[in-house]
Amino acid sequence: MLTSMSNRSGRQVGVFGGTFDPPHVGHLAIALEVRHTLALDEVWFVVAGDPWQKSDERSITPASIRLIMVEAAVAGAPGVQVSTIEIDRDGPSYTADTLTNLTAAHPNDTFHLIIGSDAAAGLDTWHRPDVVAELARVVVVGRGGRQGGRPPAGWRFTLTDVPVLEVSSSDLRRRVGEGAPIRGLVAAGVADLIDSYGLYQELS
Ligand code: ATP
Repeated sequence: MLTSMSNRSGRQVGVFGGTFDPPHVGHLAIALEVRHTLALDEVWFVVAGDPWQKSDERSITPASIRLIMVEAAVAGAPGVQVSTIEIDRDGPSYTADTLTNLTAAHPNDTFHLIIGSDAAAGLDTWHRPDVVAELARVVVVGRGGRQGGRPPAGWRFTLTDVPVLEVSSSDLRRRVGEGAPIRGLVAAGVADLIDSYGLYQELS
């Protein structure tokens, strides 16, 4: 957990935000690939407390359960940490607020915001996109190959190829609801938690 981390200066840090409902092998593959390709010191999974872009569409698993699933998903992965910064904060989980808080807490570090290409095209619709652009370098990872979306005009970004893994949290929720297997698509510890909490039994 990040609360135990030192404030050593000058790190290159990937910030990988998501709902992670549930976290899957695609998420971890992205984090590790971007860390390797951009030679980042660390990648922090930032678990959305209130994912405002998704919470109107379906019911979201409580943040406390998504957090322990993410911890299980990244256990043992080198250079990968889990941040509770958005869970600890009240209100909608705006990336602009997260980057503001992270920059204040770690002023010497450089933050790289990792987003899927499906999310890139909507960057202008995010809360305070000017703050996001100012406080982080945007890293767009391919989802579905090179045809994915790009940030709107005016955004500076790096495009990074990652192994294409056709897995999504929504597909995993659907599979659980249908009784289809998910082991291999999520870490064993995540599958165990989904079983023990009885998550996703009803299609959302
Ligand atoms: P859902 O299917 O519920 O929308 P998701 O699988 O996209 O969820 P999120 O928690 O929303 O999971 O993802 C966090 C980030 O990871 C987003 O930027 C998303 O675009 C990206 N991402 C998720 N899965 C993949 C994947 N297989 N390949 C590339 N990017 C991905």
